[in-house]
Amino acid sequence: MRANTKPVTSGGRIFKNPVLEALTKTHISIPLTLFWSAGAITLWYSIAELGIHWGTATIFFLGGIALFTLVEYLMHRFLYHIPARTEKSKRFQYVIHGVHHDHPRDKARLAMPPLLSIVLATLFISLFRALMGAEGYAFGGGFLFGYSTYLLAHYAVHIYKSPKNFLGVIWKHHNLHHYVNDGGAFGVSSPFWDYIFGTMPKEPRRKEAAKVDLL
Ligand SMILES: [Zn+2]
Ligand SMILES: [Zn+2]
Repeated sequence: MRANTKPVTSGGRIFKNPVLEALTKTHISIPLTLFWSAGAITLWYSIAELGIHWGTATIFFLGGIALFTLVEYLMHRFLYHIPARTEKSKRFQYVIHGVHHDHPRDKARLAMPPLLSIVLATLFISLFRALMGAEGYAFGGGFLFGYSTYLLAHYAVHIYKSPKNFLGVIWKHHNLHHYVNDGGAFGVSSPFWDYIFGTMPKEPRRKEAAKVDLL
């Protein structure tokens, strides 16, 4: 468990090799543009080109967003925080996620490198297409739209001050994970799956997280 209260603003270094190091950095606008557009295009394609009724396409699109929130939770809980015992597995955990916990405000490392995310996006769309037929495109589009929205939420939590409205719950929840208890609060876009799977940290830790001011 890590419980830093002081946010770290420097970026750190993952690889000695400058090419590999450069590949770990991504400007947030790239995946946001890429995956929101992909979401909108697949929805348009499903309705205009594949002739799927807009109501059906929208339901599949929303289903894709919902599945993404679950995948986001499971990946963060079981892959990003994989228990690491050997040096190799510790290194793996550090590269995929530990570096983010050490440098949570490093703007260049708040999204996966686009090359990797494009490959994963193609695999997911192909999988949904194989499982659901033509409706799989709209479902996959929703999934990518969900990913993009998650990226924006995560970026905003680390870079901007918490807003004084209902969205503040997203800030509070992720601060809880970073600065109070990284063994819980795995959902980033919402606390929903933490309530479902019982990984919602108990009070008064939640109150401590609300006091953390990142800026
Ligand atoms: Zn974070
Ligand atoms: Zn984490």
